[in-house]
Amino acid sequence: MGIGIKKAFAVFSTFFLTLAVASPCRYLDDAPVVEAIIPSLLHLNHLKFLNVDATVYRHTLTKGSLPRLSILEYSSAPIIEVNTAGNEVIISTKGNSCVAAMGGDRSDAHLSSKARSSFFITTLFALAAAPNLKSLGFLSLIAIGILSYKADAAGVDECTPSMKVVLEAPPYYLGSVDECFAEVSNPDHCPEDFPAFETCSDPSPSCELAVVGAGTSGLYTAMRLVEEDKFSAKDICIFEATERAGGRIYSLRGFGPEHDITVDAGAYRTWPEFTPTTHALIEKLGFQMECYEDEDPCQKFNIIGDNGEKIGFASFVEEMLRILVDKGACFFPRHELISIDYEDDESKLLVFANGVSASAKELILNMPQRPLLQVMRKSSLQLEVDEESRIFDSLHSVQTEIVTKLYLYYNNSWWHDLGLTNGDFEMPGDARNMVVKGRYHDGHVKCGEDGSCYGFLLADYVHDFGGEQSQFFRRYQRDRPEPVTIISNTDIEGRAFLNHAHNRLVEFHRYENENADYTGFQAQTVFRKQDPPEFAVLATWNIATFGAGGGWHHWTDLDNVDKAMKPMNELGIHVINEAYSKLQGWAEGALLLADEVLEEFFGVLRPWDFDAPDYLQFVAQTTSEACNEVEDETAANSGGGDSGGGGGTVDLCFTEDALVIMADGTTVRIDEVRVGDLVSTGFPGETGRITNVLVHKVGSTQHASNKVEVVVISSAQYGDLIGSPEHPIFVNGRWMEMQEAIDVGVFDVSDMLAMRTTETIDVFYNLEVDGNKPGNSSHSYVVNGIIASGLGDNEVLNTMFARQKAWKAKA
Ligand SMILES: Cc1cc2nc3c(=O)[nH]c(=O)nc-3n(C[C@H](O)[C@H](O)[C@H](O)COP(=O)(O)OP(=O)(O)OC[C@H]3O[C@@H](n4cnc5c(N)ncnc54)[C@H](O)[C@@H]3O)c2cc1C
Repeated sequence: MGIGIKKAFAVFSTFFLTLAVASPCRYLDDAPVVEAIIPSLLHLNHLKFLNVDATVYRHTLTKGSLPRLSILEYSSAPIIEVNTAGNEVIISTKGNSCVAAMGGDRSDAHLSSKARSSFFITTLFALAAAPNLKSLGFLSLIAIGILSYKADAAGVDECTPSMKVVLEAPPYYLGSVDECFAEVSNPDHCPEDFPAFETCSDPSPSCELAVVGAGTSGLYTAMRLVEEDKFSAKDICIFEATERAGGRIYSLRGFGPEHDITVDAGAYRTWPEFTPTTHALIEKLGFQMECYEDEDPCQKFNIIGDNGEKIGFASFVEEMLRILVDKGACFFPRHELISIDYEDDESKLLVFANGVSASAKELILNMPQRPLLQVMRKSSLQLEVDEESRIFDSLHSVQTEIVTKLYLYYNNSWWHDLGLTNGDFEMPGDARNMVVKGRYHDGHVKCGEDGSCYGFLLADYVHDFGGEQSQFFRRYQRDRPEPVTIISNTDIEGRAFLNHAHNRLVEFHRYENENADYTGFQAQTVFRKQDPPEFAVLATWNIATFGAGGGWHHWTDLDNVDKAMKPMNELGIHVINEAYSKLQGWAEGALLLADEVLEEFFGVLRPWDFDAPDYLQFVAQTTSEACNEVEDETAANSGGGDSGGGGGTVDLCFTEDALVIMADGTTVRIDEVRVGDLVSTGFPGETGRITNVLVHKVGSTQHASNKVEVVVISSAQYGDLIGSPEHPIFVNGRWMEMQEAIDVGVFDVSDMLAMRTTETIDVFYNLEVDGNKPGNSSHSYVVNGIIASGLGDNEVLNTMFARQKAWKAKA
């Protein structure tokens, strides 16, 4: 192989690269499809094209099938050689005019050491057969992308023989279950298969409605359209890149001795006050829920089965798919959309990575930002330049956040032995030392009759834009885009990881956990007989994650949200998804945007009734206009206040002597801080920039007099903090209004005392921190030692940050 082909193969990865090769020869008319069975998966490691430009589509076979090649179209009769000894499959051409024009057949090209060659390859990878496979006889793999090879042996380059090849193999994108069997030698550390659905496999389906992306938003939209008789289920095609339903709601089941323990690697809970649509939808689908953590009243919920055990948050999404499939909808898993084109005036042509082309009269894309961008880059929608720019501006106006979750599986849930069944825990880490940021109540734990318990502990749940918090975990992510990695004690690296993770927890619980109600001696006793975890479920949601490209999204320019949402509807392409919604980071956003599209373009109105007010809710905040235009006040503030929240809003302010803690730890009076100053947000290591100082004159037309109700919090360290009763503050691990903090007695047990009273106030102050920049900080600042909301009056930002129990509905 004088031209260095060997080096280019055997890449264990899943990326693909599209490279244009000049002047492919015209395909022969009516040439029959040429097919070949490939005897072993190993041959796919060495698939070579000689003197041929080939477009290779992957296609996934059902598990257990032999891989095969189909050459659908070609310009010169193909020759397929299988070299069993060398584990090679070589595809070449011979004896047609096109090849002749190029100066020879495969051998010529192959042997010519002087050949100018350009060689582009994207990946192929193989997996060796593994022992102990639960459900398969062997491991599977996938061939990806577009592969092309051009050997320009004689320097005559009029055209290069060309082919369209479908490479079919059991999938490389296996989902965590089969990946686990490939990598972990103890099958008990692997989850059970994902729920199966009846699927369709038409190579050129024709769909009245195509929904791409079997996540929450896509399936909800399809289900609603069927419920409202807008489409017959039989006319709906649901295309999904992976083999599962759920997208970023990703439940793994069947762990533990009874194979009944569940982990949610993605989304895991509803919060009815904040995510009422999701909660109502889950109830409507007939699921029961239990309190996520020990709180009274309960605010957040997990899905449970009839036996009261967690069954995985994906259950409701799977149920929607089941309903659709039962009614006749066609589910096409492992169909990764790669481009959209116009078929004719009526229909779009959808091309999938496996070679399937579908036609769709209506198209709904439920795809997160990064996969959607990949598709749009390859699509030809024949747009004016301005229109193209507008669409890409819209698609670019969100960015993803990197999220990592780590669940450790213990045969004995030692945290219960220490009385730790509820609450969060945290210890900083770095690239060498695992950050500890978990929750005692989150993992699924089962207890036997003898009181002994086993199951998962959520040891880490970290997220940020830069991925700094996730840096320790990067090295454990495998070279594939599946978000879930099972780290088992059956291999050396896994053992080292599990020991390290365990030691970090021991360190925290023996020496650092000042808030816990046990002694160091008790901890030592518990840990002395405690083995490290047996295995871990690591979920890494980042740029490389297939079909997701990150954990969740944030708008980068909140002023353009309305323009950027629904960017392609006039082209008959409806984008739904959490990515471009007004409540990012939550399934609620996915449903809300779906509802908007359903109403606006399909005439389907919101289905459910809620206890909560209308869904567009936000935290009332002091509005910059109202505050700054102190002389131009028009609205009377009858217990409501400023207009920033859009109705029934309130003054959320402090008096001028409130001391703000700056980023460098110094304190400055709130009336002396300036726009651009860096403040501490009160959250570990985080700072925020002041984007507005809101000045609110009292005793004008806004207030009948300058005598107003306030809360006074006295602290020996800082003196009195005087603020409005509704201002959201962060105490005891959650946001509440200052009045609520008094009501629940927060300050009675600290060195601060609080009371509600009437004061004469001339001017109130509030800060907007990183206004309009969602990812920059927690939008908070610290006054007199208390974390206060600094959200300002940005409506979208306020939908994204739950600050108050009592949200004000948009009028
Ligand atoms: C770790 C984590 C925790 C979370 N916690 C919560 C929570 O507790 N509560 C909550 O409400 N929300 C939570 N969320 C957010 C929630 O998961 C998402 O908002 C929601 O699942 C988004 O649903 P969606 O339908 O918009 O998109 P997705 O779930 O991303 O669905 C998109 C689908 O499109 C498919 N797809 C992508 N590209 C292609 C392609 N080219 N061709 C075909 N198919 C494609 C994907 O595989 C996927 O199935 C969490 C998210 C993460 C990552």
